[in-house]
Amino acid sequence: MSSGMRAEEIVPLQIDRMACTGHGVCAQILPRNLTLDAHGYPILLDALVDPDDGDTAIRMCPARALYWKGS
Ligand code: SF4
Repeated sequence: MSSGMRAEEIVPLQIDRMACTGHGVCAQILPRNLTLDAHGYPILLDALVDPDDGDTAIRMCPARALYWKGS
């Protein structure tokens, strides 16, 4: 998270593990929030993601497996 972010700008990102196909794009876009396991599937380290970066990851996920909590 960038140091200039306000609390209301932070929203939790979720992963649909049934939909995820392990492309790993999300971990490239959100390296501080996600890492990949030995099979290329994401492990969420910190769900409080910068909204702009999270929107990019959601848009770029080829399996449409990322979403904002509550959306
Ligand atoms: S980009 Fe999408 S499909 Fe690929 S690992 Fe991340 S959540 Fe899974």
